[in-house]
Amino acid sequence: MTITSTIRPPAEELLARRNLKVDPIVVTENLWKLYYAGKLEVPALRGVNFKVMPGEFVSVMGPSGCGKSSLLYVLGGLAKASRGRVLVDGNDLAALGDAERTKLRRYKIGFVFQRFNLLPTLDARGNIAIAQHIHGDGFDPHRFEVITKLLGLTERLKHRPSEMSGGEQQRVAIARAIINEPKLILADEPTGNLDTQNSEIVLSMLSQLHKDLGQTIVMITHNPEAAAYSSRVVHMRDGVIVDGATAN
Ligand code: ADP
Ligand code: MG
Repeated sequence: MTITSTIRPPAEELLARRNLKVDPIVVTENLWKLYYAGKLEVPALRGVNFKVMPGEFVSVMGPSGCGKSSLLYVLGGLAKASRGRVLVDGNDLAALGDAERTKLRRYKIGFVFQRFNLLPTLDARGNIAIAQHIHGDGFDPHRFEVITKLLGLTERLKHRPSEMSGGEQQRVAIARAIINEPKLILADEPTGNLDTQNSEIVLSMLSQLHKDLGQTIVMITHNPEAAAYSSRVVHMRDGVIVDGATAN
């Protein structure tokens, strides 16, 4: 065996890497979501075609009522599509039973909401650790330390939600969402209840999770300054995406 046979020229290596096929984390095809208010049909999503690649930080913008939350809930398996397909990490959500869909949600998706939804009787440590227990793989002290440090929570772990600022509570909620290494974080207006300063802290931490850990994030926001932290902005109107539906 010659030495040259084991050394691959860099150009070839680069080409090989470029040809590696990377599958999207999220794909929607002609996705519709209809709600019914009495006899009235409310079309919240009207044919959404959307793709998210691994490692993207996508923000979704658009006027109130345009379907942003509906899109996020359907992507996360919290609501069912009325028509069309949703694939999350290659799994067709409609083809999964309820138990399998719950499992996919638990293992692959982390949610962050505008209201932090923490358990009031548990301190920050408990609120984060409980997600690891529900996940079923038990407590991973190393992961816990990395995440809480990255989110600046090390000094706050013994505080209950009522003893923390909104920004701190949202950082605990983010830690809880990300602790089990989900493929995807779905955030619905995570800074909607925060003042400017806390919003900036939370956004820069989401951005850091994206940059340092390669975390894939889809975040709804009303705020163009918040969208500026992301790597792609999707614009919605009247139940469809009008701009930015796929990565370039
Ligand atoms: P956004 O998050 O962009 O404000 P939503 O997805 O919450 O928009 O709502 C899209 C449309 O669907 C709106 O017209 C809203 O009123 C309607 N809608 C949302 N949820 C429901 C529901 N549970 N029942 C009936 N209509 C709903
Ligand atoms: Mg909404």
